[in-house]
Amino acid sequence: MKCSKHQKQSIATCQWCGKLLCRECIAKTNGKKAYCTDCSGQVGEYVQRIQLDQIRKDAEAEQKKNRFAGIFQR
Ligand SMILES: [Zn+2]
Ligand SMILES: [Zn+2]
Repeated sequence: MKCSKHQKQSIATCQWCGKLLCRECIAKTNGKKAYCTDCSGQVGEYVQRIQLDQIRKDAEAEQKKNRFAGIFQR
């Protein structure tokens, strides 16, 4: 199997779009996962979005906790 861009032996597949990747095609790796140049940016955004969601959830949980603490104090 060869990559469509360089006609070289593929050594991995993009974990985002499933495209065959040769050594030159791989733009980003995450452990054993590889991503093409088109998807590496999206993966970064995706990861950032997960982190933002987590931060937001943590903040909400903290607010709830404070609200409960306020009730118990009364
Ligand atoms: Zn891709
Ligand atoms: Zn290639």
